[in-house]
Amino acid sequence: MPWNTIQDYINDPAGFDAHHKQWVAQGGDMEVNDEMAYIETERAMCHDCGALEGELHEFGCDMERHSECGGQLISCSCVYKELGLYDHVKYGPETSFLPPEVYKHGLSEEQEKRWLEILEEKGRIPWIQYPNICVKCGALWPVMFAVPNEEWEKYVEPAVRGGMLCEPCYLWIKGLIDQYAGSA
Ligand SMILES: [Zn+2]
Ligand SMILES: [Zn+2]
Ligand SMILES: [Zn+2]
Repeated sequence: MPWNTIQDYINDPAGFDAHHKQWVAQGGDMEVNDEMAYIETERAMCHDCGALEGELHEFGCDMERHSECGGQLISCSCVYKELGLYDHVKYGPETSFLPPEVYKHGLSEEQEKRWLEILEEKGRIPWIQYPNICVKCGALWPVMFAVPNEEWEKYVEPAVRGGMLCEPCYLWIKGLIDQYAGSA
């Protein structure tokens, strides 16, 4: 039976996994189409809560994203809106228009429970790991390095500035621009 499509994987991940391992053990000498070759068949584990890809994070894990705003769930402020906690008449800017006890101590157990119910109604986002990729060479998980903002903006064009570069690619680009800038 051929195992070379995304659908094979979706239908039977465990079977595909076993087959994939066997394939790798045999030196990868099997027909696998290009698309499939890029699927990582080991499920990554969330380093924070231990969830495996496809599962939900433990509630309160700082890796969970909020399905409404896309931000980090434990730090986005949607919860206050959803629970109707803002009151611009009763409370002032010194507590961010929130009840002082919430501002100081966070949500009560009751509010926490209600928040989880709201999230579950709307659908929480399961853990899937998306790798960082060098936008120049495509290397996965490039090692991070620091570049002053002005330098980054000088050498990296706007369309890719929000992405990542591996250090060799960055130095390559910088070298080229310094060498050839202004020449025709
Ligand atoms: Zn997690
Ligand atoms: Zn949010
Ligand atoms: Zn690179």
